Amino acid sequence: MSAAPAPRPDTEGPGEAGPEGTRAATTLEVHGGVRVIGGTKVLVSTPRARVLLDIGEDIPSGVDLLRDPTRSRPRQALADALRLGAAPRIPGLFDPRALEAVGPGAEQLRVLADPDPRPTLVVLSHAHIDHDGLLPHLREDVRVLAHADTIALHRALEEAGATAPGTADRLEPLAEGTEVVVGDLSVRIHRVDHDVRGAVGTLVRAPDGVLAYTGDINLHRDGGTHTRAFLEQAHGADVLVAETTMLSFDPLPEEPRSEDEVARIVAETLAGSTDLMLLSAYERDVDRAARLIRAATQAGRTLVWPGVHAAVLAALGIGGVVTWDPTRPQGRRQRRAGELAVSRGARTTGLAEVAAAPGRFLVQIDPRDFASLLDLPLGEGSAWIHSQGEPLGPFMPDWPLWQDWLEHLGLATIPAGSSGHAGPAALHEIVGAVAPGRVIALHGFHPERLQVEGIPTLLPEIDVSIPLRPGAGRSAR
Ligand SMILES: [Zn+2]
Repeated sequence: MSAAPAPRPDTEGPGEAGPEGTRAATTLEVHGGVRVIGGTKVLVSTPRARVLLDIGEDIPSGVDLLRDPTRSRPRQALADALRLGAAPRIPGLFDPRALEAVGPGAEQLRVLADPDPRPTLVVLSHAHIDHDGLLPHLREDVRVLAHADTIALHRALEEAGATAPGTADRLEPLAEGTEVVVGDLSVRIHRVDHDVRGAVGTLVRAPDGVLAYTGDINLHRDGGTHTRAFLEQAHGADVLVAETTMLSFDPLPEEPRSEDEVARIVAETLAGSTDLMLLSAYERDVDRAARLIRAATQAGRTLVWPGVHAAVLAALGIGGVVTWDPTRPQGRRQRRAGELAVSRGARTTGLAEVAAAPGRFLVQIDPRDFASLLDLPLGEGSAWIHSQGEPLGPFMPDWPLWQDWLEHLGLATIPAGSSGHAGPAALHEIVGAVAPGRVIALHGFHPERLQVEGIPTLLPEIDVSIPLRPGAGRSAR
């Protein structure tokens, strides 16, 4: 089946209520995640309400004009991003103060500051920056809903200094399966398996149909039990908005390994060396971190985290967290976070202990402080275990620098990760299980590769309105 172009809506678009007794069609607009990995944003609109699925930072699809060493200006981050086409032009969504700018294009930004008469609800699928990164710029009267675990993670990250302050407080918890009504739309979330606690799939019920949104999703983590339960709830939706991350690569990757397999590789690697070992793991994946702590303990090693990692893990109740004592020089942010971690029950260790028995330790690197590797007693059998932490991969700007450090230190790399995204076969299984009327493929370089017999795949463009029901019109049916 060939991919169909996004059909043009036959309505005049949202914002104008139909005459009494008629019902305007629900429309969808995609504002991110088009042929890039990440940044999905889908606006569902009726004349009476709006629901925005995710509000992450855009992933640059071409040249990133704000890459290091350039930074967007603190109070103009959103205005700069909008003028570069790197943020969604959704009217009545953003704080008017964040839209203030001077010079060319400033007037168009001011137009976005006009309030929309309809209530707007934002629903977060999970706590990753490409899904929640624009939160600090939202209008105060826009409600933002998320799973309680997402809010807890946000709070832990904020307190550790790992993300902008003030966002956790504006998130409202939404219990799994509970319906929230906004105008003539209603929203439900259901847990899915990804690589972060609190990840959900979302169902939006409109007067003329149902939309299901996967968020970021997989079937290989812990058996995919949460995901499968969501797919049952989503069965028969008119539209499924699906991520397609793992269809992006050539050749197509194999299905990702399970968390048990990750733990087994780490355990074997640690058992095979008597030297100090290094790790990079992702602090937001606290369940993986807990498994890595256990794997290290079983191998007779202590896993030592930088302060920020330790503070996040301790705040979320992970046991056995160890961070550095003041004998290891760390930057101010790491040191403060480390003190916070200790106040929450983390233990500390020092450079002398590590120097006395390097083979009894596994040390998480601080990707912003490679020079601190010079403090560590690395040996011939030392290696770097890469389990999704930063630098994430060759597509990251700090990857070549890290490779230079590895070469300088003579360290081998042990891949011990597993993606949080469904493999190619699992993605097709997900679409087949939902059996939607149509699938909107996003969040990948090759969304056109998501093809399931009998289910049309839509490849939307940014900002183009799509009716929830094909051929839906203004009059009641
Ligand atoms: Zn994502």
